[in-house]
Amino acid sequence: GRFGLPGRITVAGLGVSGISAARALAGLGARVTVVDNGDGDAHRARAAELAELGIEVRLGHLSDGARAGESLPEGTELVVTSPGWQPQSPLFLAAAAAGVDVVGDVEVAWRLRGAGAELRAAAQGAGDRAPAGPAEWLAITGTNGKTTTTQMLASILKAAGLRTAAVGNIGTPIIDVVLGEQEYDVLAVELSSYQLHWAPSLRVHSAAVLNLAPDHLDWHGSMQAYAADKGRIYEGNTVACVYNVADKATEDLVVEADVEEGCRAIGFTLGAPGPSMLGVVDGILVDRAFVENRQKNAQELAEVKDVNPPAPHNIANALAAAALARAFGVEPRAVRDGLRDFRPDAHRVARVDEVASVVYVDDSKATNTHAAEASLASFDKVVWIAGGLAKGATFDELVQKSAERMRGAVLIGADRALIAEALARHAPEVPVVDLDRTDTGAMLAAVREAAALAEPGDTVLLAPACASMDMFANYNKRGEAFADAVRELAAESAADT
Ligand code: ADP
Repeated sequence: GRFGLPGRITVAGLGVSGISAARALAGLGARVTVVDNGDGDAHRARAAELAELGIEVRLGHLSDGARAGESLPEGTELVVTSPGWQPQSPLFLAAAAAGVDVVGDVEVAWRLRGAGAELRAAAQGAGDRAPAGPAEWLAITGTNGKTTTTQMLASILKAAGLRTAAVGNIGTPIIDVVLGEQEYDVLAVELSSYQLHWAPSLRVHSAAVLNLAPDHLDWHGSMQAYAADKGRIYEGNTVACVYNVADKATEDLVVEADVEEGCRAIGFTLGAPGPSMLGVVDGILVDRAFVENRQKNAQELAEVKDVNPPAPHNIANALAAAALARAFGVEPRAVRDGLRDFRPDAHRVARVDEVASVVYVDDSKATNTHAAEASLASFDKVVWIAGGLAKGATFDELVQKSAERMRGAVLIGADRALIAEALARHAPEVPVVDLDRTDTGAMLAAVREAAALAEPGDTVLLAPACASMDMFANYNKRGEAFADAVRELAAESAADT
């Protein structure tokens, strides 16, 4: 078919990425069927819209009693999946049995990047300028810090005057960006382990794996399988594989990857960098990997205080973003300007307020133990608010590493007993308030308990180490509930004085 597309494509899942894939593929002339087990009103409305475009949608139970996603629609030559679908889903097993490829939205975008450039060139007509080719991709994955690092990278690339966007697991669906009218020089691409799992032919300019800790193991099946999926980001890299010196598992993935000749392994470290590394010396981010001036052995990039916020884990994110930008040829000044311009998304180590000499910080996005550990390490003395859905995690290591920083802990949510047990095992001296409440006032109660435990100069930190869905719609709502509670506390405190 056109642009090497197969004629008949099945899209699994009627969510944002599934709809984007179905529209784009149908727009390029493929015959598309979307399958989804849901059949509520929202699904029906979306199905009706797609039907207008000639896209068939199969919802819920089929007439023969099977579910929509169980069998492969007749004649399917390619299956495009959405991230939420388990690899063991019946549809994929049926596809494997029929010898039909299953890919994700990132793979489709990668395969269509040339098509996008061709379409834009055709739309512009024959001008004096040679038509621009597809944008280069700089890719980022890791257990934590992906969104932040991708946005930092986009900010740096922008400061360098490049046409760029942060895409992938964030923002506009990546297929829409690749096929869209807007021309880009380079894309900052955030990739989840799910997206990497389903992107077998991806071969980017340069990529970074920020860190590797257990997460989503229910989906991947094992830590080994999860790491292997993350490691795919390095396959075929042409210029640089960026790894975290403090996290050997990321370096191992570079060693195992099959890369283009001349592609370099570039480390980032919070300490003084060795050759082929970026690191920190006397409060300055320095680059010893891409040094233009042969007289110098290091290139200064920015100050630690240019990083927002300058917490250790976030300085690591900044170094990773800088490494990718430098691999792409960006000058030091743009690294500094881009980092200065960058503002983190909400609920990521965000200072809410100071009440009675105690600072309240919202890191609702710390939805796993590795993130919460980084967050706790950013402060001296902390009253820790934690709990929610543990997703199979254990809390021993987190508590062991963070115990000496804890003034106290306030536990909320479904799996708080797991955290309470870890605290009792490894930090029996830390006072713990176990809040057995899930009502709408629970967060305010938690903040009040935390305020009572805190001493002047302390930080009260919401870093739940758990998912939010037992008590809140999502991590945003949880963070907002925390901020509301802090505002209420501040108002009471102002009224008292
Ligand atoms: P992701 O997109 O991977 O979920 P985010 O940039 O949204 O990552 O950050 C999520 C949370 O992870 C932050 O709120 C913070 O608690 C933690 N975090 C961010 N960067 C790092 C890092 N480099 N190492 C460990 N934890 C981090």
